[in-house]
Amino acid sequence: RVAYVNGVYQRHAEATIHVEDRGFQFADGVYEVWSVFGGRMADFEGHMTRLHRSLNELRIDIPMSAESLTRVLKETIRRNRVRDGIVYLQVTRGTARRDHPFPAPGTPPSVVVTSKSIPFARSQAQAAKGVAVVTHPDIRWGRCDIKTVGLLPNVLAKQAARDKGAYEAWMVDEMGLVTEGSSTNAWIVDKAGKLRTRDTQANILKGITRTAIMAMIEAEGIELDERPFSVEEAKEAKEAFFTAAGAFVMPAISIDGVKIGDGKPGPIATKLRARYLEEAKREAI
Ligand code: PLP
Repeated sequence: RVAYVNGVYQRHAEATIHVEDRGFQFADGVYEVWSVFGGRMADFEGHMTRLHRSLNELRIDIPMSAESLTRVLKETIRRNRVRDGIVYLQVTRGTARRDHPFPAPGTPPSVVVTSKSIPFARSQAQAAKGVAVVTHPDIRWGRCDIKTVGLLPNVLAKQAARDKGAYEAWMVDEMGLVTEGSSTNAWIVDKAGKLRTRDTQANILKGITRTAIMAMIEAEGIELDERPFSVEEAKEAKEAFFTAAGAFVMPAISIDGVKIGDGKPGPIATKLRARYLEEAKREAI
């Protein structure tokens, strides 16, 4: 395996970044993850556009042209012989002697790309059965719309889920409303049959998979209510599921041990997953 590190493809086991990289010291960096199908990236433009937005919001220099970056992403996938899996890109504000303010203008951002295989069959098996979700307090900052590598609250939430044998943690604000998953966007079909997901003005990440699903929902003629839902509403829902690159559309069959619907993946989640996979594979580059 190889990793791309600042212009060089290094052996993965030996790939390193400087100890004074600002990503390491301050979580001063952003990232993106693309799903890979048959060696090609899904939702390519959406993730690329969001990367540029994240960099822009944090005033990190664009490290290289979109064309060069695309070439590096593709080459990393190719060199790692990834058919199905993910490709990960991280850009930090670069390496400089540790000091909180931004380093001197012209300090080059650090760029790392890795790619790994994930058997598609594993995700399909999980989706066929459905997975467990637990809730966890959302203790994050006020700019969760930026995809930064500052993920400690997400790490703690995900580990709390794993400790309870669950796949994902849904984070909950002080009002008792679900914000999003630790690395996914959260959805329900509420007890009135309405599809619900939190609006992206409310301090969550605007998921690229979420956006792709929304276009399909419209095409299917399903009504969407872009409005936060409470943990109580989620537990009483007919269906629950979550979306992300890598997870696609994943049905949740329990929340904090409470069975959702009949305890099986719901029809809307199942249909959206199939449709998403079909379109994502077709449009992958
Ligand atoms: N929300 C959070 C906090 C995430 O970290 C992610 C993905 O990593 C998502 C939502 C889903 O975003 P996407 O569909 O773009 O992968």
